[in-house]
Amino acid sequence: MLTAETVGSILHFEGDGLPVTSLYARVEPGGNHRDLHTRVSSLLDEIRPLAKDETVDHEGRISVRGDIARIRDALGEEQWRPGAIAIFACSGQGLYKEIPLPLPVHDRVMVDVTPFSRPMLAVLEEYDRSCVAVIDEASARLLELYQDEMQELGEISDPKLRKKNYAAGLDEDRTSNKAGELRKRHYRHVTEQLGELFATRGYDLLIVGGHEYEVPDFVEQLPRELRSRVAGTFTIDPSTMPLAELRSSAMAIVDRYERGRDQQLVAETLERAATSNLAALGLPDCLWAGSVRAIQALLVQDGAQAPGVICDDCRWLALSGGTCSLCGKVTRATPDVIDELVQAVVDEGGSVRHVRAETMLSDLLTAAELRFPLPPRPQPTEAG
Ligand SMILES: [Zn+2]
Repeated sequence: MLTAETVGSILHFEGDGLPVTSLYARVEPGGNHRDLHTRVSSLLDEIRPLAKDETVDHEGRISVRGDIARIRDALGEEQWRPGAIAIFACSGQGLYKEIPLPLPVHDRVMVDVTPFSRPMLAVLEEYDRSCVAVIDEASARLLELYQDEMQELGEISDPKLRKKNYAAGLDEDRTSNKAGELRKRHYRHVTEQLGELFATRGYDLLIVGGHEYEVPDFVEQLPRELRSRVAGTFTIDPSTMPLAELRSSAMAIVDRYERGRDQQLVAETLERAATSNLAALGLPDCLWAGSVRAIQALLVQDGAQAPGVICDDCRWLALSGGTCSLCGKVTRATPDVIDELVQAVVDEGGSVRHVRAETMLSDLLTAAELRFPLPPRPQPTEAG
């Protein structure tokens, strides 16, 4: 499971003067391994000259050479899941990490003093990390859900009214008061633990499961900050709950929550376009916005692709054009200019969200919130 610690260890990695190799490769569903291996090999070919470059110090060259060999070895035994793989290596410092990413990213390789983490972060930011709390009368089970994996965080167990309290002849009122008090105390205990988990592990969402008669009371007593994170609740008998069932209940809640968020973000961007000049709708305007680095937040219809052109010199993007409208150089045709746009936005520090809900974006393909109003689009050059 990909944990916050793993990601953190890459972000804070120090090569101590040695270069870090960062490699990203798309992994197609259905697993055409030969194609994947060819693409990774040609990425490695791009950095091979560095391993021989006399201007790089000796230890640095050895380290890059080690990285290339290690990634080459990994190709022999890889079982990477569809989406993408990110690899960070610095053999001189003993670093080698493969991070599976759930969405495709652009193939690329980079050798630098720090890990090139932005494309990884952009993908991971699209997935919320959820904490799942399953509440029972005097016990609770806490779990983490990230992407499609679930992991136990721990259990809580508090004192409850024992049978002998009834037997001791306490009257009905006092028994039920006592039970209510213990339950309140138990809820507070669980809430404290949740507060701590949210503070230390940075969860985005809280999902609560349990008996139908217990869940609303529990949610009700949560402090506002935690209550605002509740993405949904589900009913389950906590005494008999297989993990698989828990996971599918929790995943269904996250999915519903995310699709709602998709709809909200698309609606907000459309609203912004209607009331200001700080939004771009549709591919032609979004490509122009990407070309002038104006995009703050890009929404992309999940799975959308469109052929287009890109200028490798100044990164002008368009649907067509043999020469760049900005610098006049010859453009390169690409089967998917949306992928190039996503990459450009990520590189400029903007955010990208792939929208899966059914919205107006199905027709528009892309929409963006802008940092500044767009300058007029240059006159198109001859079509390419
Ligand atoms: Zn150009």
